[in-house]
Amino acid sequence: MSHHPTPNGSIPPVTDPEPWRVLFIAGWGRSGSTLLTALLDQLPGAFGAGEVRSLWARGALASRRCGCGRPVPACPIWGPVLDRLADAPMAAAEVAAVQRSRLRSRHYPRAVVAALARRPPDEQIDRYVATYRRAYAAIADSTGASVIVDSSKHPLDLYYLARAGVPVRVVQLVRHPRAVAHSWSRPKPLNDGPDQADLKQFSPGASSTIWTLWNATMSVLVNPVVGAERSTVLRFEDFVVDPGGTLRSLARFAGLDPTAVRVSDGSVHLARNHLVAGNGNRFTQGTVSIDARDHSSALSPSGSLLATVPALPLLHRFGYAVRPGGTVPTTSAGTDPPSPGSPDGG
Ligand SMILES: [Zn+2]
Repeated sequence: MSHHPTPNGSIPPVTDPEPWRVLFIAGWGRSGSTLLTALLDQLPGAFGAGEVRSLWARGALASRRCGCGRPVPACPIWGPVLDRLADAPMAAAEVAAVQRSRLRSRHYPRAVVAALARRPPDEQIDRYVATYRRAYAAIADSTGASVIVDSSKHPLDLYYLARAGVPVRVVQLVRHPRAVAHSWSRPKPLNDGPDQADLKQFSPGASSTIWTLWNATMSVLVNPVVGAERSTVLRFEDFVVDPGGTLRSLARFAGLDPTAVRVSDGSVHLARNHLVAGNGNRFTQGTVSIDARDHSSALSPSGSLLATVPALPLLHRFGYAVRPGGTVPTTSAGTDPPSPGSPDGG
């Protein structure tokens, strides 16, 4: 965590305009966001919503399965949320169309330039954000939660939400881009529908290009709007070394009770949840051990090179080794220097 909460575990002195706030997990996929969300979901006052961004396309339109196993429209949490969105400024089909046509990685360069030029968001983005915000309010109403954990990850969505004044705390979740690329190179079933159509994979070069683009967007666009006291960096490698300590730190950061975290060394308990979308791990229940192996050296030499080069400008910022086999220091990313000789988490 590069920005610690105030000492003694008190909640950061920032006020919110709503009785709820969003803990938004940002960062490229395959970095542990689904696991983190399922664990935070277990804290009193929190609701692990999963990838709220997918509520419309995958939930309302495609009727894919919620973490509870039911199709999203039939889920006792999400069904009422969708009902409340019936008169939202944007219908589900248009939300999905905007995400496809304006909010994908290929749209980032133009959007970042427009944002830095301080061009105001247009009417369509305004309605998209208003609809997204309505979903948060409906979730808070439906669940009684004061903290909604949204693992949607997309930095451009987060930027538009934050700029519109949606109360967010941001966790920028990172994992070594070679480990991420290795994970993307292997199929991972989604298990949330009858088909395997969305079983996406990315080449090492593509994965690391998006990793860099999204993390750079966080630095350039999101963090200046959100503010340092409302954002923190979390390395997945630090989480696997100390899951309990990391969760307590995140709980304090979000304004939740850190003493409610019950995690013993190396293993966590997963309960049934209502994560609306995310990877197939959200259907896992019971005690699971945390995989603390270092996957940053698991790619072939050429794959490793392709996964490293696009990320070179940012590796140092997160304390990551450039060469495979180099150690991944376990100190916090960002401001703290890596401590020499620390274990590599594997
Ligand atoms: Zn459900």
